[in-house]
Amino acid sequence: MAKEHVELICNIGELAGLFEKSTSLENFLQTAVSTVAFHMHAAVCSVYLYDEASGDLILSANQGLNPDYIGRLRMKIGEGLVGIAIKELRAIREGNASHNPAFKHVPGINEERFQAFLAVPIVRGLTRVGVLVVQDPVPDYFDQNDTRALQAIATQLATVIENAKLLMTLHRMENPTPAPTVPHVAADLKFQHGLAVSPGYAFGRATIFGGTEDDLDGDDPGLAGKFTLADFERSVQTTEQQLTVLQTKMEERLEDVASMIFSAHILILRDSMFSGAMVHRIEHGQTPRDAIVAVATDYIHRFAASDNPRLREKVQDLKDLSRRLLRNLKPGDENAADYHGRVIVARELLPSDILKLVAQRASGLLLIDGGATSHIAILARSLQLPMVLIDNRDMLDLPETAELLLDGDQGTIYVNPSDDVRRRYQELQQSSRDAEKLPPPENAVACTTDGEHIAVMANINMLSELKLARHFRAAGVGLYRSEFPFIVRNDFPSEEEQFRVYRSLLKQMHGHEVVFRTLDVGGDKMLSYFPSVNEANPFLGLRALRFSLRYKDIFSRQLRALLRAGEGHTLQIMFPMVASVDDFVAARDVVSDCCRQLAQEQVPHNPAPRLGAMVELPSAVEVAPELAAEADFLSIGGNDLVQYVLAVDRTNAQMSDAYLAYHPSILRALKRIADAAIAAGKPVSFCGEMATDPHMLPFLVGIGIRRLSVEPRQIPRVRQCIATQCLADVRAQALHLLTLGRISEVEHTLGIKRTPAA
Ligand code: PEP
Ligand code: MG
Repeated sequence: MAKEHVELICNIGELAGLFEKSTSLENFLQTAVSTVAFHMHAAVCSVYLYDEASGDLILSANQGLNPDYIGRLRMKIGEGLVGIAIKELRAIREGNASHNPAFKHVPGINEERFQAFLAVPIVRGLTRVGVLVVQDPVPDYFDQNDTRALQAIATQLATVIENAKLLMTLHRMENPTPAPTVPHVAADLKFQHGLAVSPGYAFGRATIFGGTEDDLDGDDPGLAGKFTLADFERSVQTTEQQLTVLQTKMEERLEDVASMIFSAHILILRDSMFSGAMVHRIEHGQTPRDAIVAVATDYIHRFAASDNPRLREKVQDLKDLSRRLLRNLKPGDENAADYHGRVIVARELLPSDILKLVAQRASGLLLIDGGATSHIAILARSLQLPMVLIDNRDMLDLPETAELLLDGDQGTIYVNPSDDVRRRYQELQQSSRDAEKLPPPENAVACTTDGEHIAVMANINMLSELKLARHFRAAGVGLYRSEFPFIVRNDFPSEEEQFRVYRSLLKQMHGHEVVFRTLDVGGDKMLSYFPSVNEANPFLGLRALRFSLRYKDIFSRQLRALLRAGEGHTLQIMFPMVASVDDFVAARDVVSDCCRQLAQEQVPHNPAPRLGAMVELPSAVEVAPELAAEADFLSIGGNDLVQYVLAVDRTNAQMSDAYLAYHPSILRALKRIADAAIAAGKPVSFCGEMATDPHMLPFLVGIGIRRLSVEPRQIPRVRQCIATQCLADVRAQALHLLTLGRISEVEHTLGIKRTPAA
């Protein structure tokens, strides 16, 4: 099969287009199989969905076989080639399927003449969703490339197909008793102090994310009466257009992470039981407003009461969709339908929620107590969404008429601020905006006053940040956090999707160095689709490299994508949270296995990547000399190093005064790591936030670190700070600091005044 078909099907626009052509869930699946058959040039394509209740695979859509079997043909797990594909979670490719003794002949389905057979499991995280099958009369029609293409298609479709499946099961569920609603309490909250997470100011009306469903229409009197069925139909159309535009724009802006983020909304809207039920009610005399609220409320209760966490996750999508339908009853105000200009107050957010909020132009985010994972914080910064973390649940009871001013630099919140406060902030906002327009530096080298060069590189989470990194002439990417496409999407990206992201990153950096960090999940960086083992202490559990070494298939898929993307480039890969030399060696062995496999398959790749270890655990500090001997380079992850050496949760606002980068133990640990790398003649870089702290930066340079990696927008500041330092002085000061045993002594020397925790 020609490669462009693979390209085409990997194109999100094509898949998103499936919604446009379908009018119901069943019809969506049917359109999906026709599209896949078309692109794979296959005579037959089928989707089997796995029904957990019965343990059966059910033929749910098909093109090319006897349609009478749709919904009726069932296979057990392990039965026939389709059953084996789902049981063993592997692709099955046969030149002539009937020659395989496991092939199950189904009389009457008319598949006798289709000899070539290819089946791939559809899996979302660890959940078995179903099997995608193509067949063709020409023997040996499918090759290895087709297998990869079909796997990539199955991965891309997995989330949507699973959502479709969930909605179908929902229709069979009993209607549960509604959950009690929480009354609104108008709180008397004027000024709040929290933790500054993502800089910038936001001013706008408060919107409680995850609020109760009784506020669906925001008590808007303009929505009562007067509307007709035609208004409702127009609203459905407008809603769909808006969602499609939002989806397309986000995919253009964030190609690596924003895949199909509004797919659940569109799918629900297309569900005839949803909008169809509304039409039915309107035709029987209900007002469109009441019909939308009644059906949406029913759905919300069903979703919220479901045992399936994936359905419960969709409650917010459903509320958003219903609000959008209500707002669109009134034509004219485009922005009324989304979060334009709003300050969002939330207790909990999924990473994909942040993307949806940014797509809908929310202006700021206020997260209540433990809801902030470090990745939510990093995402907010990457997307330039001002954010504050606060430990006050009363904020969740704010009325939506409240206006909030959020200062993401200071971590402060004003509720209904006076005109005076607002004006002051507007002025500040103006000057900070101007700072963003800083001209690019004339040369890319950062130098101390006595001529020592320091490479200032960029930490990149999403490809969209590369622009700023290039603008500030970053010396390269010192840390690419590869987990973002994994965390923000709804499923593991396929090898092909990862390959595209990594290749694009290398290409956009025009030959500058790029250090890829392999998947760093676990702890607070959870994958919503991967059932977390019930860990009492996830920060000390299955995370980062431990996760990759436990799930070698996921690890290998990522390494293969990296090795392939790195062909013709200098490829640097580093492993997060290496806990021992043994872990590092084990990871290196997996890289070697992947290189061997790719060579055997004759797939172009980089056969000799440089491999580094991140030092962020006390155990790694202890064996830093041995790690430095084995690795090609070391990189210090200061954020976690502080967390693990001091036993202070980096996401806990109440403990922020104990999270001290300048603690004597940290200073000494840093020195030992730098010494170990320098003694072994290996490069060592630093990529935690400490590198942007003007108190710590001179210390890092003073102990011999010459490579720093920081958020792109921090690059000019860091360069400026370096330019004011004299190497001889910072060396002397570092040596002095290393003699101090008390925090207070370090504070005194550095002139630091500690602020109490929020
Ligand atoms: C760190 O721990 O310092 C680091 C760079 O990694 P992350 O912030 O992604 O955990
Ligand atoms: Mg880390």
